[in-house]
Amino acid sequence: MALVVQKFGGTSVADADRIRRCAQRAVASHLDGHHVLVVVSAMGHTTDEMLELARRVATSPPQREIDVLLSTGEQMSAALMAMAIDDLGAESASLNARSLGIVTDPVHGNARIRSIDAHRIVRDLDAGRIVVAPGFQGVTDDGSITTLGRGGSDTTAVAIAAALGVAAKTGVCEIYTDVDGVYTADPRHVPAAGKLERVSYDEMVELAALGAGVLHPRAVMFGKNFGVPIHVRHSQRAEGGTMIVNETPDMERVSVVGCALTPDLGRIGIRGMPNRPGTQSIIFERIEAAGILVDDIIQIQSGECADVTFTVESPHLADLKLAVQEALERIGGGEMSVEVGLAKVSAVGVGMRTHTGVAATMFRHLGEAGINIANITTSEIKISCIVPQEHGPKALQVVHDAFGLGAAKKDAVREG
Ligand code: ASP
Ligand code: MG
Repeated sequence: MALVVQKFGGTSVADADRIRRCAQRAVASHLDGHHVLVVVSAMGHTTDEMLELARRVATSPPQREIDVLLSTGEQMSAALMAMAIDDLGAESASLNARSLGIVTDPVHGNARIRSIDAHRIVRDLDAGRIVVAPGFQGVTDDGSITTLGRGGSDTTAVAIAAALGVAAKTGVCEIYTDVDGVYTADPRHVPAAGKLERVSYDEMVELAALGAGVLHPRAVMFGKNFGVPIHVRHSQRAEGGTMIVNETPDMERVSVVGCALTPDLGRIGIRGMPNRPGTQSIIFERIEAAGILVDDIIQIQSGECADVTFTVESPHLADLKLAVQEALERIGGGEMSVEVGLAKVSAVGVGMRTHTGVAATMFRHLGEAGINIANITTSEIKISCIVPQEHGPKALQVVHDAFGLGAAKKDAVREG
């Protein structure tokens, strides 16, 4: 008997019919003899609608109350799912963040899971029940409801799987969504993109952080840290989906496994900061305190001064400017400039560690396509180029072709 965690996203539970279809999946796994735990998102666009409503009753609703409000979306799905399962003749129980024992830090709106007390879940599973858990929420030490950040139900699913000790031989965490897996690029921009049979945790962390969208990046980190196999599948189709697994030696055969576009970035430059220890930490601590994620940090030292640039997704640009301005006032030197209208195209693959010439190939193809590169950053398994925003989708297509990815060259797509 294995343990199967099945997570159904908002589109998959958008109406009564779909909830019933997901319930059938859960019951089928249960009848196959598995312990089944279901994690649900809020129905359809419920979360967005609630946020809209909150903004209509108050100009700046307290984040604590937003969490209380949003958590009800998942709670509603959980109860409905448990009813649908019950209607199919299986025993079911929906829990809540408290009875699930999901304890988080007190950062409302973007809380991190500290611990999960799985006793109650195990008791229900052992009693033969299909346990239904609302995704996306936790509770602080002092009993306040928190949420884990948009898309956080994935993280709930993988974290519970980890807490229950799900590992390669004992079970799987299935993420049911409205796409049938992880693609070599977003098929909306690159029609020839191919579905990946397998992708390593490290590659998926990069792709998710770059906005691949199928999975919450923190869910992948949990999967990696606790060895939980993650299976991304379409909720209404039978096909195989994509497995996210530990890296195997053969994965290095392919240099690039996928590419991604971050479509709307701004770039902050700071010139002429005093070049002394601690300057950078004042800036980045201020940015972190504002809860803003920046990327592509480059610093250049020029004599007495230091210049630094970094990127941010455009919606956060206004808050970022304020944070940097405050930091510069404390530092007492440095001038900020802001550039908008940028995009980032990235290529990802564990094979980059052993293949040479990957960067050169990417730069050459972008150059031949007449796309100017404004900035380059690399990690061990990723190369990113900042390009003008209007060239973003074309750059993605160019990089995808440069590495022979996608359905047209099926042999280049990593198969299981
Ligand atoms: N309902 C939340 C959201 O829309 C969490 C989730 O669906 O994963 O972001
Ligand atoms: Mg999602």
